Amino acid sequence: MSLLDVTELRKTFGGFHAVDGVSFAVEEGSIHAVIGPNGAGKTTMFNLISGHSHPSAGAIRFAGDDVTQSSPDAMVRRGLTRAFQVTTIFPKLTVLESVECAISARRHQSASLWLWNRPTARAEALQLLETVGLAELADVQAATMSHGDQRTLEVTLALATQPKLLLLDEPTAGMSPFETKKMVELVRDLTRSRGLTVLFCEHDIGTVFTISDKVTVLHRGQIIADGAPDAVRTDQRVIDVYLGRRNS
Ligand code: ADP
Ligand code: MG
Repeated sequence: MSLLDVTELRKTFGGFHAVDGVSFAVEEGSIHAVIGPNGAGKTTMFNLISGHSHPSAGAIRFAGDDVTQSSPDAMVRRGLTRAFQVTTIFPKLTVLESVECAISARRHQSASLWLWNRPTARAEALQLLETVGLAELADVQAATMSHGDQRTLEVTLALATQPKLLLLDEPTAGMSPFETKKMVELVRDLTRSRGLTVLFCEHDIGTVFTISDKVTVLHRGQIIADGAPDAVRTDQRVIDVYLGRRNS
C-alpha cells in the first residue's frame, strides 16, 4: 500500500482547472519530486494534500484513510506536515525556542505546561538541531539567519511534529549551490535515518534528478509523466514542455 494516494484530484478557480484530474501515489520511505513549469498547479496540489484547501473533486488517502476533507491540523496529527516560512511564524524567537514551541504544540501543551515541561522539550529540541546541523545557531534569532539556515529551520520545525510524510514546496528556492547541497544531504539523511517519506516540488532540476526515487511532471494541471527519474528525464513530452525549454 502507498503512503499517499491521490485520485482524480481537481481544483477549480472560477472555471479554471488549476489541478485537473491528477492521480498518483507516494511510496513509503521514498523521495518523490513534483516538477513542472510555473503555474502548472504544483502549489495548488500541495495545498490540497496538506488540507490548506479542499478539492473540487477527487480523493486523497493517507496511510489508508480518506483525508480528502481534513484540516491542516488533522493532517499534522495523522503524520503529514508541510514546512512553512519560519519568519512569518516565529519572527522574534531564537532557533531553539522556535523548535521548543513546535515540540510543545505537538504535545498539545498549554503555555504554563510548556514552562513546566521545558527541560524535556529543550533536550529534544537540541537533539533535533544537532541532527539538522543548526546546533551552533540555537541562540540566534531566526529572522537574522541566512536564507539557507532559515529554510533548514523550517524543515526542522516540521520534523518536530514527527511526520511520516514531509511536504516541501521548493525547499532550495533562493539558495546558493552550497546551501542547496546541504539541503539535499539533509533530506537524504532524514529519509534514510528516520524512514521519513518526502514529497517535494522543486525548480532545481539537478537536485530533482540527484535525489528523487520518483518524479511526477505536472503541466497545466495534468500529469504528463510519472515514474523513475531516468524514464522521466528522457520522456519526449517532458523535454518538449519543460526540460528542453529550460536549457534553451
Ligand atoms: P505552481 O506552483 O506550479 O507554479 P500554482 O499552483 O501556484 O502553480 O498555480 C496554478 C494555477 O492556478 C496558476 O495559473 C495560478 O494563477 C492559479 N491559482 C492558484 N491559486 C489560485 C487562487 N487562489 N485563485 C485563482 N487562481 C489561482
Ligand atoms: Mg508553486
